[in-house]
Order: sequence, then C-alpha cells, then structure tokens
Amino acid sequence: MEVVPDRRAVLRAGLAVLGGAATGTGLLAGCSSDGSPAPSPSGPGGPGGPAPSVLSPSPSLDPAQSWDALAARLAGPLVKPGDADYDTARALFDPAFDTVRPQGVAYATSQQDVATAIQFARAAGVGLAARCGGHSYGGYSTTEGLIVDVTRMNQVSVDGNGIATVGAGARLIKVYTDLAGAGRAIPAGSCPTVGISGLALGGGLGVLSRLHGLTCDRMTGADVVLASGETVRVDENHDADLFWALRGGGGGNLGIVTVFRFATHTARSLTLFSLRWPWTVAQEVLAAWQDWVTGRLGAMPDELWSTLVAGSVPGGSTPTLRISGVFAGARAGLSGPLADLRAAVHSASPASTSITEHDHLAAMRIEGGCSASGGECGSTAGIRAGARRPGQRAASSILLTPLGSAGNEALVRMIEERQRDPLATAGGGIILDAWGGAIGRVGPAETAFVHRDAIASVQYFGGYPAGAPAEVIEANSRWLRDLVAAAAPHVSKQAYQNYIDPELADWAAAYYGTNLPRLRTTKTHYDPDNLFRFAQSIPLA
Ligand SMILES: Cc1cc2nc3c(=O)[nH]c(=O)nc-3n(C[C@H](O)[C@H](O)[C@H](O)COP(=O)(O)OP(=O)(O)OC[C@H]3O[C@@H](n4cnc5c(N)ncnc54)[C@H](O)[C@@H]3O)c2cc1C
Repeated sequence: MEVVPDRRAVLRAGLAVLGGAATGTGLLAGCSSDGSPAPSPSGPGGPGGPAPSVLSPSPSLDPAQSWDALAARLAGPLVKPGDADYDTARALFDPAFDTVRPQGVAYATSQQDVATAIQFARAAGVGLAARCGGHSYGGYSTTEGLIVDVTRMNQVSVDGNGIATVGAGARLIKVYTDLAGAGRAIPAGSCPTVGISGLALGGGLGVLSRLHGLTCDRMTGADVVLASGETVRVDENHDADLFWALRGGGGGNLGIVTVFRFATHTARSLTLFSLRWPWTVAQEVLAAWQDWVTGRLGAMPDELWSTLVAGSVPGGSTPTLRISGVFAGARAGLSGPLADLRAAVHSASPASTSITEHDHLAAMRIEGGCSASGGECGSTAGIRAGARRPGQRAASSILLTPLGSAGNEALVRMIEERQRDPLATAGGGIILDAWGGAIGRVGPAETAFVHRDAIASVQYFGGYPAGAPAEVIEANSRWLRDLVAAAAPHVSKQAYQNYIDPELADWAAAYYGTNLPRLRTTKTHYDPDNLFRFAQSIPLA
C-alpha cells in the first residue's frame, strides 16, 4: 500500500520526496469574474452605511509610547529583540523571511490585547502585521515593526445548530481535531500548521471544497478589531460589506480577526486514492485529468476531489507524476470515475494504485502528512529563525479552460528541463487542483472571492534544500519565473490570493478581478489611514 502524503509535505520539501517511497495526494490549492459590475458599496452597514456595530470601545494609550509600556498593558507576552525566545517568536514557515527582525511580537490573548497592539502601532508609527499560521508565501505576516500573533486565541467549539466558533489563531489540525470530536467538519486546507485566519480570509481550498465549498463560503460571521481599535461583530446583517470582504479579500487587509463562526457539515468517512504513471505518458495524463475533472469523460461527482502533481526528482532518472485525491463516500463510488480516468490514458496503465478508506479525522490527518491514529501533527514549536530548513518559491494561475496540448507540452518540457539541471537540488513542478462543484455555485460577486468559474488551479513550485547556497536559490527563482512564463499563454490572468506571489505584476486584478473596486471602497471605509498595509495589500479607493 502506498503512503499517501499531503500537499504540505510536498510543498515543504519542495517535492524532494516525490520520487521516493512517499507519493502523496492533496496539494490543494482560485475564482473568476463573470464580468458583472460590482454591487453598490453603499448597502447596509457598508461604506456609506450605518456606523460599525461596536462591541468594545477603542482603548486609550498614553501617547508617550514605549515597548515596555506596551508590554505592561498586554495580558499576553511581548517578545522583543534580545529575549531568549526571539528567534522562535519571529520565525515564519518559510526561512526566506528569517532576515526580518520585528521590534516586537505580541502574543495576543484577547480582543483587548489586539486592540492595544493596534493602538500602539498607530501611535508609535511602527509597521503592523497580523500573524496566524505564518504560511504567507510573501512573508506578509511579518514586519520590522510589531507582529500581532493570534495563535493563543485558538479555542474551537460547536453549538447545537452546528455553528462552530473558531478562535482566529487555530491551526487547521486543531480545527479538524476539535470539530471531529463533535462529529463535525468544515472544508479547509490539508496542511496541519496552516492557520485558519490566512486560509479563510483568502478563500480556503480543501479536499471537500467541491462538495461543501471554500472555507470562506462556510463563514457565517467574525469578530474583527479595526484600525481604530474598535471591535465589530460582522455577519450578513451587520457591517455586511466588511463581512463580504472577509470572505476572500485576503488576510491582513481590513482588520485583525479574533473569532470566526462557520457552518459545519457532518464529518463523514473518506476514501483516499493515489495513482502513479510513468513520466513517458505525462502529457497524456495531464490531458486526461483535465478532461476528467471537467466531466468530459463521464459524470464527475461533487464528492470527488483530485489533484495532479508533476515534478522533478533530484537524483532520479525521470520526473514523477501522480493523480491522487479524496472521495467523500465508500470506495465503491470511486470505481466508475477511476475506470474513466484509466481508460483515457491509452498508452500506459498506472504503475501503482492505492485506495484506502478512513474515518474523517484519520483521513484528514493522512492528508496532512500525519499518522492516521494520533500523536503530534505538524507542530511548529520547533521553527526557529536561522535554523536550517528547506525553502521554496511558488506562484499560481487559475484555469478557466483546459491547458490544451501546447500548454501541457510546455509544462512537461519545463519540468524535464529542471530534471536535467544540476543546480536543482530539490524538486520543482506543478500541482493542479480540481475546482468546480460547490465552489462554482456561488456567484463571483456574492463574496470577495471572485474566481468562481475556475475548473482548476495550477500551483508552480520550486524548492531548495536547507542551507542552499545563493546560486541554487537564484537558479530556483529563475526556473520558477521561466515556468510561469511558459504557462502564461495557456492559463487565465487570474491567480489565487492565498498563493500570494510577491513577483506577480498585476496582482490586484489577478487576485480580486471585478471585486476590486468594492474591496477598495470597503478598505477605505474601515482603514482610512491604510494602517494595515503591505506590498500587496488592497489599495485605498
Ligand atoms: C505548506 C502550505 C500548504 C498550503 N496548503 C493550502 C491548502 O491546502 N489550501 C489553501 O487554500 N491554501 C493553502 N496554502 C496557502 C495558505 O492558505 C496561505 O498561505 C494562508 O495565507 C496561510 O495562512 P496562515 O494564517 O498560515 O498565514 P499567515 O502568514 O499567518 O497569514 C497570512 C496573511 O493573513 C494575515 N492574517 C493572519 N492572521 C490574521 C488575522 N487574525 N486577521 C487578519 N489577517 C490575518 C497575515 O497578516 C497575512 O497577510 C498553503 C500554504 C503553504 C505554505
């Protein structure tokens, strides 16, 4: 039986393991505009509407700001340069951001702490960044100023109506574990250490998204501390424009969320599958997968989600190729669709096939690269700035139509080029994730997440090993740029905001499309001084 690893394991290792025993499923990874005009931003509770529903007034701080005064006012700890745990406190998931040295990391334990930190940053004139799981590809959850880390606010509970209250600092493994304890779940990403905040605010694609929607589609409300220091409770009827913007408008733009509320679904058993083909049929498999997920080979049930991973294998003879995924039901329901897929690849049968059934939590743990039965799963306690760990570059495109044979050929050629490159000492390639189903049944303007016509996303990734020399890191970045350029004629101009890409030129249009004007108006209303800003934050109107 094959081990079925997760997207996180693959991303983290830059696919270094793809050619080995591990095979892996779930590298998830966008929304498209229908060209319709953005709705009027003057609806109830929005810009131009009534004042925000204030839960708590803004705290007043002594204008003579000092870091010691801030520490004294916070209930949670403030870690500063020179403190023993400073390098752990400032580390993000990606070592590329170890060079950033914040003046303080505030571990907020309450809305009041968040408000105090925001007020401090405003009064002291220092940069401000919210941080949850620390997985931002652009490093936008760190700053040379003050990081507001929300991970200590991570409580998860479910009420009798199946509405989950999730502390904004919960990592996905805690969300899955705690909800499964109540027999419930939400659709979310695979990686156990990704934070609910970044994921949900930018969309949130998971193995059950074709069936149950994006994470943001399940959001029914949130508590948000605004740039003013005030806290508002938002939902469909209160600060409706802000609530709209939080569902896909991207993390870090509008305020700091302290609590989310989500509509859960039943945590059902899941069937995991993984098939590998020889690299010689890579173009055929790429074409077959795109026909398969778009229903051209036969019915594609919402219950079936899949991913195609193709990547170079350092030290191997050929790149590797795999289709894997999750079926929300018993394995019998998978046999017809899998037969369609196999039959569409005429030149070769899969070299290996694995199909296994698991209870919900065990399946999600396996998807996260963890032991099915329990134990530690993706702890981040060990991450320390400066410690040797693998790094990677990533980018994304949204597919509105299949790549076509020229597109398939271009991607295969670039992966083969990497396979031959002696400087490519970790894997690099593409991850195609299936979209559609419930994701596409929400209109592009109903939430800030615009990419609703997507059939799939392509994630481009290239890794480098821990401690890699500068020339290897530069070669990796160069190859990734060439890969993105080779794909460009065959993909849409949209990109997934959760795969935020500091090198993307027309990023605001790519992430937000026709929703950009309403997002800018909402941003201006709630953060008129642009306190929450970073290189790719939503611009003021
Ligand atoms: C290994 C890996 C696997 C991934 N797998 C998936 C996947 O399966 N599906 C998917 O859709 N995406 C996936 N992603 C992308 C992921 O959704 C984004 O990187 C997301 O932004 C990470 O959220 P975070 O809280 O971990 O990151 P952070 O870096 O902490 O935050 C991301 C952004 O959100 C802001 N933010 C954080 N907390 C708050 C808050 N409380 N209020 C307001 N803003 C806040 C930050 O300032 C930053 O701008 C993956 C990324 C990685 C690195």
